Amino acid sequence: MIVMKFGGTSVEDTRAIATAAEIVLSRIEERPVVVVSAMAGVTDSLLAMARAAASGRLGEALRVLRGLRRRHLAALYSPADESADVARQHVVARLDSLQDILRGVAALGELTPRTTDHILGTGELLSSRIVSAAFAALGLDAALVDARECIVTDATHTNAVPLFDWTTERLRRRLPPLLAGRQVPVMAGYIAATIDGVPTTLGRGGSDFSAAIVGAALNAKRIEIWTDVEGMMTTDPRLYPQAQRIEVIGFDEASELAYFGAKVLHPATLIPAVEKNIPIHVLNSRNPESAGTCIRARAPRSRTTFRAIAAKPGMKVVNIKSPRKLGANGFLRAVFESFERHGCAADLVSTSEVSVSVTLSSAHGIDPLLADLNKLGEVEAEDGKAIVCLVGKDIRGRVGIAASVFDTLAAANINVHMISQGASEINIGFVIEECDVPEAVRKLHQRFFEPEKQRPAPTLRAVRGGLRMPRCGPAGAAVEVG
Ligand code: ASP
Ligand code: MG
Repeated sequence: MIVMKFGGTSVEDTRAIATAAEIVLSRIEERPVVVVSAMAGVTDSLLAMARAAASGRLGEALRVLRGLRRRHLAALYSPADESADVARQHVVARLDSLQDILRGVAALGELTPRTTDHILGTGELLSSRIVSAAFAALGLDAALVDARECIVTDATHTNAVPLFDWTTERLRRRLPPLLAGRQVPVMAGYIAATIDGVPTTLGRGGSDFSAAIVGAALNAKRIEIWTDVEGMMTTDPRLYPQAQRIEVIGFDEASELAYFGAKVLHPATLIPAVEKNIPIHVLNSRNPESAGTCIRARAPRSRTTFRAIAAKPGMKVVNIKSPRKLGANGFLRAVFESFERHGCAADLVSTSEVSVSVTLSSAHGIDPLLADLNKLGEVEAEDGKAIVCLVGKDIRGRVGIAASVFDTLAAANINVHMISQGASEINIGFVIEECDVPEAVRKLHQRFFEPEKQRPAPTLRAVRGGLRMPRCGPAGAAVEVG
Protein backbone atom coordinates (compact mmCIF):
# COMPACT_ATOMS: atom_id res chain seq x y z
CA MET A 1 0.00 0.00 0.00
CA ILE A 2 0.99 3.63 -0.33
CA VAL A 3 0.06 6.83 1.54
CA MET A 4 -0.98 9.89 -0.44
CA LYS A 5 -1.12 13.13 1.52
CA PHE A 6 -2.76 16.14 -0.10
CA GLY A 7 -1.81 19.56 1.28
CA GLY A 8 -4.09 22.59 1.61
CA THR A 9 -3.75 23.89 -1.94
CA SER A 10 -4.34 20.39 -3.35
CA VAL A 11 -7.85 20.36 -1.80
CA GLU A 12 -8.61 24.08 -1.88
CA ASP A 13 -11.72 23.91 -4.09
CA THR A 14 -13.83 21.52 -6.19
CA ARG A 15 -11.37 21.65 -9.06
CA ALA A 16 -8.38 20.82 -6.91
CA ILE A 17 -10.31 18.00 -5.24
CA ALA A 18 -11.32 16.56 -8.63
CA THR A 19 -7.66 16.62 -9.68
CA ALA A 20 -6.72 14.86 -6.44
CA ALA A 21 -9.32 12.19 -7.21
CA GLU A 22 -7.77 11.62 -10.64
CA ILE A 23 -4.32 11.33 -9.10
CA VAL A 24 -5.60 8.80 -6.57
CA LEU A 25 -7.28 6.85 -9.35
CA SER A 26 -3.98 6.68 -11.24
CA ARG A 27 -2.49 4.85 -8.22
CA ILE A 28 -5.49 2.74 -7.33
CA GLU A 29 -3.67 -0.56 -7.96
CA GLU A 30 -1.15 0.37 -5.27
CA ARG A 31 -3.91 0.54 -2.63
CA PRO A 32 -3.64 4.16 -1.47
CA VAL A 33 -4.60 5.56 1.92
CA VAL A 34 -5.39 9.26 1.53
CA VAL A 35 -4.48 11.82 4.20
CA VAL A 36 -5.72 15.40 3.79
CA SER A 37 -4.86 18.82 5.22
CA ALA A 38 -7.39 21.54 5.84
CA MET A 39 -8.18 23.63 2.75
CA ALA A 40 -5.46 26.23 2.13
CA GLY A 41 -5.34 28.95 4.78
CA VAL A 42 -8.14 27.48 6.89
CA THR A 43 -6.06 26.59 9.95
CA ASP A 44 -4.72 30.16 10.05
CA SER A 45 -8.28 31.55 9.83
CA LEU A 46 -9.44 29.24 12.61
CA LEU A 47 -6.61 30.40 14.83
CA ALA A 48 -7.37 34.03 14.03
CA MET A 49 -11.05 33.63 14.89
CA ALA A 50 -10.27 31.77 18.13
CA ARG A 51 -7.97 34.59 19.22
CA ALA A 52 -10.45 37.27 18.17
CA ALA A 53 -13.21 35.60 20.19
CA ALA A 54 -10.96 35.22 23.23
CA SER A 55 -10.09 38.90 23.18
CA GLY A 56 -13.72 39.97 23.02
CA ARG A 57 -14.00 40.55 19.27
CA LEU A 58 -16.79 38.04 18.69
CA GLY A 59 -18.17 39.98 15.72
CA GLU A 60 -14.86 39.68 13.92
CA ALA A 61 -14.60 35.96 14.73
CA LEU A 62 -18.10 35.33 13.36
CA ARG A 63 -17.32 37.29 10.22
CA VAL A 64 -14.31 35.06 9.52
CA LEU A 65 -16.49 32.05 10.24
CA ARG A 66 -19.05 33.17 7.66
CA GLY A 67 -16.26 33.32 5.09
CA LEU A 68 -15.18 29.78 5.99
CA ARG A 69 -18.75 28.57 5.76
CA ARG A 70 -19.11 29.96 2.23
CA ARG A 71 -15.81 28.42 1.14
CA HIS A 72 -16.55 24.97 2.48
CA LEU A 73 -20.09 24.86 1.13
CA ALA A 74 -18.81 25.95 -2.26
CA ALA A 75 -16.19 23.19 -2.21
CA LEU A 76 -18.82 20.48 -1.76
CA TYR A 77 -18.99 18.47 -4.92
CA SER A 78 -22.29 18.58 -6.90
CA PRO A 79 -24.76 19.43 -4.10
CA ALA A 80 -27.51 17.69 -6.07
CA ASP A 81 -25.95 14.31 -5.35
CA GLU A 82 -27.41 12.42 -2.42
CA SER A 83 -24.12 11.56 -0.69
CA ALA A 84 -23.13 15.20 -1.04
CA ASP A 85 -26.31 16.05 0.87
CA VAL A 86 -25.16 13.96 3.81
CA ALA A 87 -21.73 15.59 3.65
CA ARG A 88 -23.42 18.99 3.51
CA GLN A 89 -25.37 18.28 6.69
CA HIS A 90 -22.19 17.24 8.45
CA VAL A 91 -20.34 20.34 7.29
CA VAL A 92 -23.16 22.63 8.41
CA ALA A 93 -23.43 20.89 11.81
CA ARG A 94 -19.67 21.15 12.35
CA LEU A 95 -19.64 24.85 11.50
CA ASP A 96 -22.67 25.49 13.74
CA SER A 97 -20.92 23.80 16.61
CA LEU A 98 -17.81 25.87 15.94
CA GLN A 99 -19.97 28.98 16.18
CA ASP A 100 -21.23 27.86 19.61
CA ILE A 101 -17.68 27.23 20.77
CA LEU A 102 -16.57 30.68 19.61
CA ARG A 103 -19.45 32.27 21.54
CA GLY A 104 -18.36 30.29 24.59
CA VAL A 105 -14.75 31.41 24.20
CA ALA A 106 -15.90 35.02 23.86
CA ALA A 107 -18.20 34.76 26.89
CA LEU A 108 -15.41 33.36 29.06
CA GLY A 109 -12.70 35.55 27.54
CA GLU A 110 -10.42 32.54 27.75
CA LEU A 111 -8.84 30.23 25.18
CA THR A 112 -7.27 27.12 26.66
CA PRO A 113 -4.92 24.90 24.61
CA ARG A 114 -7.56 22.18 24.77
CA THR A 115 -10.20 24.45 23.26
CA THR A 116 -7.67 25.68 20.71
CA ASP A 117 -7.20 22.10 19.50
CA HIS A 118 -10.92 21.66 19.27
CA ILE A 119 -11.19 24.73 17.07
CA LEU A 120 -8.07 24.13 14.93
CA GLY A 121 -9.03 20.52 14.19
CA THR A 122 -12.22 21.70 12.49
CA GLY A 123 -10.33 22.44 9.25
CA GLU A 124 -9.29 18.83 8.71
CA LEU A 125 -12.62 17.42 9.90
CA LEU A 126 -14.32 19.50 7.22
CA SER A 127 -11.83 18.86 4.43
CA SER A 128 -11.72 15.10 5.00
CA ARG A 129 -15.52 14.98 4.94
CA ILE A 130 -15.71 17.06 1.75
CA VAL A 131 -12.92 15.16 0.00
CA SER A 132 -14.31 11.72 0.78
CA ALA A 133 -17.77 12.75 -0.44
CA ALA A 134 -16.29 14.17 -3.64
CA PHE A 135 -14.20 11.04 -4.22
CA ALA A 136 -17.32 8.92 -3.82
CA ALA A 137 -19.29 11.13 -6.21
CA LEU A 138 -16.45 10.81 -8.73
CA GLY A 139 -16.56 7.05 -8.60
CA LEU A 140 -13.88 6.11 -6.05
CA ASP A 141 -14.98 3.77 -3.29
CA ALA A 142 -13.90 6.19 -0.56
CA ALA A 143 -14.25 5.40 3.15
CA LEU A 144 -13.97 8.27 5.62
CA VAL A 145 -11.83 7.22 8.60
CA ASP A 146 -11.90 9.30 11.77
CA ALA A 147 -8.27 10.14 12.56
CA ARG A 148 -9.21 10.84 16.19
CA GLU A 149 -10.07 7.18 16.57
CA CYS A 150 -6.73 6.04 15.13
CA ILE A 151 -3.95 8.46 16.07
CA VAL A 152 -3.52 8.38 19.86
CA THR A 153 -1.45 11.09 21.54
CA ASP A 154 -0.55 12.44 24.95
CA ALA A 155 -2.41 15.54 26.17
CA THR A 156 0.15 18.15 25.10
CA HIS A 157 -2.51 20.22 23.37
CA THR A 158 -1.52 22.04 20.14
CA ASN A 159 1.65 19.95 19.90
CA ALA A 160 0.64 16.48 20.97
CA VAL A 161 3.08 13.58 20.92
CA PRO A 162 1.82 10.33 19.35
CA LEU A 163 1.72 7.19 21.47
CA PHE A 164 3.04 4.89 18.79
CA ASP A 165 2.05 1.54 20.25
CA TRP A 166 -1.60 2.45 20.57
CA THR A 167 -1.61 4.27 17.28
CA THR A 168 -0.02 1.47 15.31
CA GLU A 169 -2.36 -1.06 16.81
CA ARG A 170 -5.44 1.01 15.92
CA LEU A 171 -4.28 1.85 12.41
CA ARG A 172 -3.53 -1.82 11.74
CA ARG A 173 -6.95 -2.79 12.95
CA ARG A 174 -8.83 -0.10 11.03
CA LEU A 175 -7.17 0.35 7.63
CA PRO A 176 -6.14 -3.04 6.18
CA PRO A 177 -9.70 -4.41 6.06
CA LEU A 178 -10.76 -1.37 4.03
CA LEU A 179 -7.81 -1.81 1.68
CA ALA A 180 -8.55 -5.50 1.35
CA GLY A 181 -12.10 -4.54 0.30
CA ARG A 182 -10.51 -2.28 -2.37
CA GLN A 183 -11.80 0.84 -0.65
CA VAL A 184 -9.85 4.10 -0.46
CA PRO A 185 -9.57 5.23 3.18
CA VAL A 186 -9.66 9.04 3.50
CA MET A 187 -8.33 10.40 6.77
CA ALA A 188 -7.80 13.86 8.20
CA GLY A 189 -4.18 14.79 8.83
CA TYR A 190 -3.02 16.88 11.80
CA ILE A 191 -5.76 15.80 14.21
CA ALA A 192 -5.67 13.07 16.82
CA ALA A 193 -7.06 12.36 20.28
CA THR A 194 -5.88 11.27 23.69
CA ILE A 195 -6.60 7.78 24.90
CA ASP A 196 -9.74 9.24 26.53
CA GLY A 197 -10.87 10.62 23.21
CA VAL A 198 -10.10 14.31 23.89
CA PRO A 199 -9.21 15.94 20.52
CA THR A 200 -5.60 17.04 20.07
CA THR A 201 -3.47 18.31 17.17
CA LEU A 202 0.05 17.33 16.13
CA GLY A 203 1.47 20.85 15.75
CA ARG A 204 1.35 23.15 12.73
CA GLY A 205 2.16 21.44 9.46
CA GLY A 206 1.18 18.20 11.20
CA SER A 207 -0.52 16.50 8.25
CA ASP A 208 2.86 15.40 6.91
CA PHE A 209 3.45 13.85 10.32
CA SER A 210 0.10 12.03 10.09
CA ALA A 211 1.08 10.67 6.68
CA ALA A 212 4.42 9.45 8.04
CA ILE A 213 2.75 7.81 11.04
CA VAL A 214 0.24 5.97 8.84
CA GLY A 215 2.95 4.93 6.38
CA ALA A 216 5.19 3.62 9.14
CA ALA A 217 2.38 1.74 10.88
CA LEU A 218 1.33 -0.05 7.69
CA ASN A 219 4.83 -0.44 6.20
CA ALA A 220 3.88 1.57 3.14
CA LYS A 221 5.89 1.05 -0.02
CA ARG A 222 6.02 4.81 -0.49
CA ILE A 223 4.59 8.03 0.92
CA GLU A 224 3.54 10.77 -1.47
CA ILE A 225 3.28 14.36 -0.26
CA TRP A 226 1.20 16.25 -2.83
CA THR A 227 1.77 19.99 -2.79
CA ASP A 228 1.86 22.91 -5.24
CA VAL A 229 5.56 23.04 -6.09
CA GLU A 230 7.79 20.79 -8.18
CA GLY A 231 9.55 19.40 -5.13
CA MET A 232 12.75 20.59 -3.52
CA MET A 233 14.97 22.77 -5.68
CA THR A 234 18.74 23.21 -5.97
CA THR A 235 18.17 26.78 -4.81
CA ASP A 236 15.31 29.25 -4.33
CA PRO A 237 14.01 29.91 -7.88
CA ARG A 238 13.06 33.46 -6.84
CA LEU A 239 16.74 34.06 -6.18
CA TYR A 240 17.99 32.29 -9.25
CA PRO A 241 15.51 31.17 -11.92
CA GLN A 242 17.86 28.47 -13.27
CA ALA A 243 17.31 26.47 -10.07
CA GLN A 244 16.70 22.79 -10.84
CA ARG A 245 14.49 20.19 -9.27
CA ILE A 246 16.32 17.82 -6.92
CA GLU A 247 15.53 14.23 -7.90
CA VAL A 248 16.72 12.41 -4.79
CA ILE A 249 17.91 13.78 -1.48
CA GLY A 250 18.99 12.21 1.80
CA PHE A 251 16.89 12.83 4.86
CA ASP A 252 19.77 14.54 6.70
CA GLU A 253 20.40 16.77 3.69
CA ALA A 254 16.72 17.71 3.46
CA SER A 255 16.77 18.55 7.18
CA GLU A 256 19.74 20.90 6.77
CA LEU A 257 18.04 22.58 3.83
CA ALA A 258 14.78 23.07 5.70
CA TYR A 259 16.68 24.59 8.60
CA PHE A 260 18.43 27.04 6.31
CA GLY A 261 15.37 28.28 4.53
CA ALA A 262 13.85 25.75 2.10
CA LYS A 263 10.21 25.62 3.20
CA VAL A 264 8.58 22.81 1.23
CA LEU A 265 8.16 20.58 4.25
CA HIS A 266 9.43 20.03 7.73
CA PRO A 267 11.58 16.87 7.57
CA ALA A 268 11.32 16.22 11.32
CA THR A 269 7.69 15.28 10.72
CA LEU A 270 8.82 12.47 8.40
CA ILE A 271 10.96 10.64 10.97
CA PRO A 272 8.59 7.70 11.60
CA ALA A 273 8.75 6.87 7.89
CA VAL A 274 12.47 7.57 7.49
CA GLU A 275 13.25 5.22 10.37
CA LYS A 276 11.51 2.47 8.46
CA ASN A 277 13.35 3.36 5.29
CA ILE A 278 10.16 4.29 3.44
CA PRO A 279 10.82 6.65 0.50
CA ILE A 280 8.91 9.95 0.58
CA HIS A 281 8.02 11.64 -2.69
CA VAL A 282 7.20 15.35 -2.81
CA LEU A 283 4.95 15.88 -5.82
CA ASN A 284 3.08 18.71 -7.52
CA SER A 285 -0.67 18.27 -7.88
CA ARG A 286 -0.67 21.09 -10.45
CA ASN A 287 1.75 19.07 -12.56
CA PRO A 288 1.21 15.44 -11.59
CA GLU A 289 3.43 14.08 -14.35
CA SER A 290 6.57 15.64 -12.89
CA ALA A 291 8.68 13.19 -10.90
CA GLY A 292 9.10 15.54 -7.93
CA THR A 293 11.72 14.98 -5.25
CA CYS A 294 12.32 11.72 -3.43
CA ILE A 295 13.57 11.92 0.17
CA ARG A 296 15.25 8.76 1.42
CA ALA A 297 17.01 7.74 4.58
CA ARG A 298 20.11 7.09 2.47
CA ALA A 299 20.15 8.74 -0.91
CA PRO A 300 22.40 7.52 -3.70
CA ARG A 301 25.41 9.64 -4.64
CA SER A 302 24.61 12.93 -6.25
CA ARG A 303 25.74 13.74 -9.80
CA THR A 304 26.69 17.18 -8.58
CA THR A 305 29.10 18.02 -5.76
CA PHE A 306 26.31 19.48 -3.66
CA ARG A 307 22.62 18.73 -3.50
CA ALA A 308 21.47 22.32 -2.99
CA ILE A 309 22.25 25.86 -1.93
CA ALA A 310 20.06 27.52 0.69
CA ALA A 311 20.14 31.18 1.65
CA LYS A 312 18.69 32.74 4.76
CA PRO A 313 18.66 36.55 4.72
CA GLY A 314 17.58 38.72 7.64
CA MET A 315 20.39 37.63 9.94
CA LYS A 316 22.32 39.47 12.57
CA VAL A 317 25.88 38.61 13.59
CA VAL A 318 26.81 39.05 17.24
CA ASN A 319 30.51 39.07 18.12
CA ILE A 320 31.57 38.71 21.73
CA LYS A 321 35.21 39.26 22.64
CA SER A 322 36.40 37.51 25.75
CA PRO A 323 38.21 39.58 28.35
CA ARG A 324 40.15 36.33 29.06
CA LYS A 325 39.41 36.30 32.74
CA LEU A 326 36.88 33.48 32.39
CA GLY A 327 39.10 31.10 30.41
CA ALA A 328 37.87 29.69 27.10
CA ASN A 329 35.51 27.08 28.57
CA GLY A 330 33.83 29.28 31.12
CA PHE A 331 33.42 32.00 28.52
CA LEU A 332 31.64 29.80 25.97
CA ARG A 333 29.38 28.34 28.62
CA ALA A 334 28.43 31.80 29.87
CA VAL A 335 27.73 33.01 26.33
CA PHE A 336 25.43 30.11 25.49
CA GLU A 337 23.69 30.30 28.82
CA SER A 338 22.81 33.91 27.98
CA PHE A 339 21.38 32.85 24.64
CA GLU A 340 19.30 30.20 26.33
CA ARG A 341 18.02 32.56 29.03
CA HIS A 342 16.75 34.94 26.36
CA GLY A 343 15.25 32.23 24.20
CA CYS A 344 17.51 33.12 21.26
CA ALA A 345 18.44 30.22 18.97
CA ALA A 346 21.87 30.51 17.38
CA ASP A 347 22.19 29.39 13.75
CA LEU A 348 25.88 29.48 12.88
CA VAL A 349 28.61 29.67 15.49
CA SER A 350 32.31 30.17 15.09
CA THR A 351 34.79 30.58 17.88
CA SER A 352 38.40 31.38 18.53
CA GLU A 353 40.41 31.63 21.71
CA VAL A 354 39.45 35.27 22.12
CA SER A 355 36.04 35.66 20.60
CA VAL A 356 32.85 33.97 19.52
CA SER A 357 30.55 34.95 16.65
CA VAL A 358 26.96 33.84 16.49
CA THR A 359 24.23 34.49 13.92
CA LEU A 360 20.66 35.16 14.97
CA SER A 361 17.52 36.07 13.10
CA SER A 362 17.18 39.87 12.95
CA ALA A 363 13.51 39.47 13.75
CA HIS A 364 14.44 38.83 17.38
CA GLY A 365 14.49 41.82 19.70
CA ILE A 366 17.87 41.20 21.30
CA ASP A 367 18.55 44.23 23.47
CA PRO A 368 18.16 42.27 26.73
CA LEU A 369 20.51 39.58 25.36
CA LEU A 370 23.10 42.18 24.34
CA ALA A 371 22.92 43.80 27.78
CA ASP A 372 23.60 40.39 29.31
CA LEU A 373 26.46 39.57 26.94
CA ASN A 374 28.01 42.96 27.64
CA LYS A 375 28.80 41.72 31.12
CA LEU A 376 30.93 38.94 29.59
CA GLY A 377 33.00 40.94 27.17
CA GLU A 378 33.01 43.44 24.38
CA VAL A 379 29.93 42.97 22.18
CA GLU A 380 29.17 44.06 18.63
CA ALA A 381 26.01 43.30 16.68
CA GLU A 382 25.58 43.86 12.96
CA ASP A 383 22.39 43.52 10.90
CA GLY A 384 21.93 43.00 7.19
CA LYS A 385 23.70 39.65 6.99
CA ALA A 386 22.72 36.38 5.37
CA ILE A 387 23.71 32.77 5.83
CA VAL A 388 24.40 30.81 2.69
CA CYS A 389 24.66 27.10 3.08
CA LEU A 390 25.74 24.44 0.57
CA VAL A 391 24.41 21.02 1.44
CA GLY A 392 25.53 17.63 0.19
CA LYS A 393 26.84 14.61 1.97
CA ASP A 394 29.04 13.51 -0.89
CA ILE A 395 31.53 16.22 0.05
CA ARG A 396 32.53 14.11 3.05
CA GLY A 397 36.22 13.33 2.88
CA ARG A 398 36.75 15.11 -0.44
CA VAL A 399 39.64 17.50 -0.66
CA GLY A 400 39.44 20.99 -2.11
CA ILE A 401 35.68 21.54 -2.03
CA ALA A 402 35.81 24.35 0.52
CA ALA A 403 38.64 25.94 -1.45
CA SER A 404 36.57 26.03 -4.62
CA VAL A 405 33.55 27.45 -2.76
CA PHE A 406 35.58 30.33 -1.36
CA ASP A 407 37.52 30.78 -4.60
CA THR A 408 34.23 31.27 -6.41
CA LEU A 409 33.20 33.91 -3.87
CA ALA A 410 36.57 35.62 -4.02
CA ALA A 411 36.40 35.76 -7.81
CA ALA A 412 33.05 37.54 -7.43
CA ASN A 413 34.62 39.93 -4.94
CA ILE A 414 32.31 38.81 -2.15
CA ASN A 415 33.54 39.19 1.39
CA VAL A 416 32.88 36.33 3.84
CA HIS A 417 32.31 37.23 7.50
CA MET A 418 32.02 33.83 9.13
CA ILE A 419 32.56 30.22 8.07
CA SER A 420 31.33 27.00 9.51
CA GLN A 421 31.62 23.40 8.44
CA GLY A 422 30.19 20.78 10.75
CA ALA A 423 32.10 17.62 11.59
CA SER A 424 29.49 15.63 9.69
CA GLU A 425 30.78 17.40 6.56
CA ILE A 426 27.32 17.58 5.14
CA ASN A 427 27.27 21.32 4.72
CA ILE A 428 29.46 24.34 4.32
CA GLY A 429 27.87 27.48 5.71
CA PHE A 430 29.07 31.05 5.67
CA VAL A 431 27.86 34.56 6.36
CA ILE A 432 27.93 37.37 3.80
CA GLU A 433 26.23 40.74 3.34
CA GLU A 434 22.56 40.30 2.50
CA CYS A 435 23.02 42.34 -0.66
CA ASP A 436 25.63 39.87 -1.95
CA VAL A 437 23.26 36.89 -1.78
CA PRO A 438 21.89 36.89 -5.36
CA GLU A 439 25.37 37.13 -6.84
CA ALA A 440 26.82 34.51 -4.49
CA VAL A 441 24.00 32.06 -5.18
CA ARG A 442 24.25 32.63 -8.93
CA LYS A 443 28.02 32.12 -9.02
CA LEU A 444 27.92 29.06 -6.76
CA HIS A 445 25.03 27.52 -8.67
CA GLN A 446 26.88 27.98 -11.95
CA ARG A 447 30.06 26.59 -10.47
CA PHE A 448 28.53 23.51 -8.86
CA PHE A 449 25.30 22.72 -10.71
CA GLU A 450 25.63 23.82 -14.31
CA PRO A 451 27.88 22.36 -16.96
CA GLU A 452 29.64 25.18 -18.87
CA LYS A 453 27.40 25.16 -21.94
CA GLN A 454 24.12 25.46 -20.06
CA ARG A 455 25.05 28.66 -18.23
CA PRO A 456 22.87 31.66 -19.09
CA ALA A 457 24.53 34.85 -20.24
CA PRO A 458 24.91 37.05 -17.18
CA THR A 459 22.32 39.80 -16.83
CA LEU A 460 22.34 42.36 -14.11
CA ARG A 461 18.73 42.30 -12.98
CA ALA A 462 17.56 38.76 -13.69
CA VAL A 463 19.21 37.43 -10.59
CA ARG A 464 17.09 39.56 -8.32
CA GLY A 465 13.93 37.74 -9.47
CA GLY A 466 10.90 38.11 -7.27
CA LEU A 467 12.80 38.39 -3.98
CA ARG A 468 13.27 41.80 -2.43
CA MET A 469 16.95 41.80 -1.81
CA PRO A 470 18.85 44.96 -0.90
CA ARG A 471 21.53 46.07 -3.34
CA CYS A 472 24.97 47.09 -2.20
CA GLY A 473 25.47 50.83 -2.27
CA PRO A 474 28.79 52.54 -3.01
CA ALA A 475 30.47 51.88 0.33
CA GLY A 476 28.88 48.49 0.90
CA ALA A 477 25.86 50.12 2.54
CA ALA A 478 22.62 48.27 1.84
CA VAL A 479 20.08 49.97 -0.41
CA GLU A 480 16.55 48.56 -0.71
CA VAL A 481 15.57 47.60 -4.25
CA GLY A 482 12.00 48.73 -4.97
N1 ASP B 1 -3.72 22.33 8.58
C1 ASP B 1 -2.61 22.22 9.47
C2 ASP B 1 -1.75 23.48 9.41
O1 ASP B 1 -2.01 24.38 8.63
C3 ASP B 1 -1.80 21.02 9.26
C4 ASP B 1 -1.23 20.85 7.87
O2 ASP B 1 -1.73 21.42 6.91
O3 ASP B 1 -0.27 20.11 7.73
O4 ASP B 1 -0.80 23.59 10.15
MG1 MG C 1 2.45 21.64 4.96
